[in-house]
Amino acid sequence: MAEDYDVAIVGFGPSGAVAAGLLGQVGVRTYVCDRSTEVYDKPRAIALDHEIMRVFQQLGVAEAVERWAEPFTPSEYYGVDGQLIKRFTTVAPPFPLGYTPSLVFTQPPVEAILRQRVLALPAVDVDLGVTLEGVDQDADGVTLALRDGAGAARAARARYLIACDGASSTVRGLLGMELDDLAFDEPWLVVDVRVNERGLAKLPAVSVQYCDPDRPATYVIGPGNHRRWEISLNAGEDPREAATEAGAWRLLSRWLTPDDATLWRQASYRFHALVAREWRRGRIFLAGDAAHQQPPFLGQGMCQGVRDVANLTWKLAAVLAGQGGEGLLGSYGAERSRHVRDLTGRIKAIGAVICERDRDLARARDRRLLAEAGGPVRDEPRQNVLPRLEEGLVAVPDHPANGTLFPQPWIVTADGGRQRLDTLTGAGWRLVVMGDGAWPLAETDLPLRVVRIGGRDGLSEADGILTACFRTHDCAAALVRPDHYVYGVATGPQGLTAHLAALRRHMP
Ligand SMILES: Cc1cc2nc3c(=O)[nH]c(=O)nc-3n(C[C@H](O)[C@H](O)[C@H](O)COP(=O)(O)OP(=O)(O)OC[C@H]3O[C@@H](n4cnc5c(N)ncnc54)[C@H](O)[C@@H]3O)c2cc1C
Repeated sequence: MAEDYDVAIVGFGPSGAVAAGLLGQVGVRTYVCDRSTEVYDKPRAIALDHEIMRVFQQLGVAEAVERWAEPFTPSEYYGVDGQLIKRFTTVAPPFPLGYTPSLVFTQPPVEAILRQRVLALPAVDVDLGVTLEGVDQDADGVTLALRDGAGAARAARARYLIACDGASSTVRGLLGMELDDLAFDEPWLVVDVRVNERGLAKLPAVSVQYCDPDRPATYVIGPGNHRRWEISLNAGEDPREAATEAGAWRLLSRWLTPDDATLWRQASYRFHALVAREWRRGRIFLAGDAAHQQPPFLGQGMCQGVRDVANLTWKLAAVLAGQGGEGLLGSYGAERSRHVRDLTGRIKAIGAVICERDRDLARARDRRLLAEAGGPVRDEPRQNVLPRLEEGLVAVPDHPANGTLFPQPWIVTADGGRQRLDTLTGAGWRLVVMGDGAWPLAETDLPLRVVRIGGRDGLSEADGILTACFRTHDCAAALVRPDHYVYGVATGPQGLTAHLAALRRHMP
């Protein structure tokens, strides 16, 4: 049976839509289906990192998304006696990736923007109201057994399949791919509220983690008048009753009354820490919530899925273009599994601070955090919690810059304006070098773009971000992957030659 498509994607949520966009805009013939015809109309994910805005920039939708996003306020952690014990903030400008590092956003319109972008791509066929019921793979491709809204069965065939079909993934279930349980399982109520002027006047001016042993809770300031509470349920409380209007107002009564706000969504669900044991079975890949779920304390739910597909799609496109093979495809699961497990461990540690139910241990926690601060509580940028890539297609661990996100400075243009670097260079493999020195490229057949910063003919950065980064890491060149992670940095031609040789060994 011939392959109709290069890549099929099941699920047109944020992970599936970003995957389809990134593949479609480089001409990969892509099929995407979703059993629902509409974007889910309630907010679920609320936080967005600058790394994700950079992917949206690559898709050409960053400006449209910015209209639905606002800077994430600091998150203050209050201990047993209501005292400040910890504070997450954002790094001060100039921002390293060209966007506010932590944002809050409204998910339904952002998903609609992503979908519109995909629908405009001639290389992508979007099939809505269509449910995947079966998958079968052979040496050449994957066959999808589908059923449309009228109940009719049909099939589609592609060389590869990405399962972006959410937490209860059909594909994962059909293939019997297991999730490792990283031991976090707590019942919480999530309430989204639109607050009026009277209500807003009663609420804190920053986001808050109430590390209260009687009732741990999170308060997040969303865009406009959107406010979210995540409230831990106590032993014996019925999650279904908590998710009724009356139940939600009862739990919100510490902050608001029904005169202050309108309920938008309330849902009880279990905060889990689950990660796929295998991320790939032959030609089929898991991504997004299908591959992992984590407690929401750092707002990483959707970010993780976008990271997955930003990682996978350039590798699939390269393999389909004959520029890589198994080494490249195998690196997807190795990189993302380690990254998700590392980050989930850090999120769990934050959860352990918030969720301590024993009053004596909670007081000991407060004393420990205040002692660690060694004085007034210090600002801790949220983004510092994110790990680098520790394994896979990256020259680690010999240098701390390897596996990190490469900065994106603003560049001063000839007309005196400014542009973000990726807009000028595109998002393929890049060798970014400082100054005028010569760099040997004979060792590579990579489609590598050389980007010069400074010197006689180089680009001129507006805020010195790259200059500072290269100085901190004592290097003069960085080999940057298409997903903007640093493969490796080099101080001179010898180091670069070694990186290019290593890459050549790992790509096939
Ligand atoms: C009820 C709920 C509440 C959430 N609340 C929060 C929150 O408070 N904070 C937070 O950070 N994150 C939250 N999340 C998670 C967040 O929404 C996801 O991380 C984010 O949406 C990324 O998901 P995704 O694209 O991987 O999957 P999803 O957004 O779940 O998209 C999966 C898509 O696959 C489709 N699909 C599933 N099975 C099939 C099939 N067999 N055939 C065809 N299509 C199929 C679905 O219709 C859906 O559109 C929540 C998720 C859910 C489900």
